[in-house]
Amino acid sequence: MLSYKEALDVILDNTKTLGKEKVFLNQALDRVLAEDIVADRDNPPADNSGMDGFAVRYEDIVGASEENPVILTIEGESKAGGTPPKLQKGQAIPIYTGALIPEGADTVIQKELTKVENGKVYILKELKKGTNIRLQGEDYKKGDILIKSGKKIRPPEIGILASVNKPTVYVYQKPKVGIITTGDEILDIAEPITKQSQIRTSNTYSLYAQVLQTGAQPVIIGFAKDNPESIKENLEYAKNCDVLLTTGGVSVGEYDLVKDFVKEVLDVKIHFWKVSIKPGKPLVFGTWGKENEKLFFGIPGNPVASMVVFEIFVKPALKKMMGYQKLHNPTIDAILTEDFSRKAADRTEFIRLNVEYSDGQFYAKPFGKQASNILTGMVNANGLGIVDIDVYKIEKGSKIKVVMFDMDI
Ligand code: AMP
Ligand code: MG
Repeated sequence: MLSYKEALDVILDNTKTLGKEKVFLNQALDRVLAEDIVADRDNPPADNSGMDGFAVRYEDIVGASEENPVILTIEGESKAGGTPPKLQKGQAIPIYTGALIPEGADTVIQKELTKVENGKVYILKELKKGTNIRLQGEDYKKGDILIKSGKKIRPPEIGILASVNKPTVYVYQKPKVGIITTGDEILDIAEPITKQSQIRTSNTYSLYAQVLQTGAQPVIIGFAKDNPESIKENLEYAKNCDVLLTTGGVSVGEYDLVKDFVKEVLDVKIHFWKVSIKPGKPLVFGTWGKENEKLFFGIPGNPVASMVVFEIFVKPALKKMMGYQKLHNPTIDAILTEDFSRKAADRTEFIRLNVEYSDGQFYAKPFGKQASNILTGMVNANGLGIVDIDVYKIEKGSKIKVVMFDMDI
């Protein structure tokens, strides 16, 4: 059976990045940039003032103090967006933040260090040459690469895109991710429960939300019963997807039919079935499509297994398809606040932990029951603690690696 790392390698080695598409700037938030962004001009484009005050020649204000002010003649004006006059010896030009430095000026003295009387300005302090001047190109120069392809577009990136005049921008396409829910006992929301054995689906909607949160496009294809006709019918509708997720029906039970029918209907090539992880051991992974560019994940039905498998395997693959450079959730070291022990240590286990930050440390608290059918354990958790193969016990107070799936700590 493959280890967690081996399975992840197989998945990522078989995952291809999708093509590009052009979107309007206002639609680009949370997309992944598919082009390098190059500066169209220097920023600032010219020397300008960092303060409201007076543009002066340094030579003219040498030795100025409150007791011995330098007196200069006020001449013209430099305002933002304007073209200032040339500064002559003995003059001071009123200037505002962002306005161009007049030719001949080399220093800006802020208003607070001056006094104006009868058309003259009294300079009350000597400043160093160049004070309060923002230099041309000090942020970036024309031709500099400002943002590299593969970066997620956040509000600061939107700001840069606007400032380099990009009304549209290339981003990577979002994969269409189809979700098929299987199980004779599973009901969709709003379906009336008529038997005690029936289970209301959680996976359909938690997977939908996880896909959406990753930035891809979820599509609920349907609910299949555990019989060949129903499974095949649902699979027919999956043909337009880039990624197919099924939930349930991949264990070794007699009604676990998914693996066989994805081969038959979609010509899925199975790369592995079963990984030594807990929860989520029966995971199936395959590729399909003309160039094996489409992915298939047969996700086990247990609600926690479904969510965990998505976080550790499906999410990095979707991110790779969407052009991300960084594929994995952030991992931190935290101090475990309670003993953890287990009887078998033949699998990498992902335990649900609630991580809090206090006094410069992360503390991780295991929550309630850790069984893979206990979804409330996920609700109380923001991270998955990794217990490696051969580790039977982690003592309270020792460190544990935690894959965070929610950074609102
Ligand atoms: P399976 O993987 O089909 O053997 O299902 C394993 C367990 O997960 C069973 O107890 C199922 O009832 C449960 N299960 C399967 N699918 C879902 C679902 N969509 N929502 C909630 N529980 C499910
Ligand atoms: Mg089932």
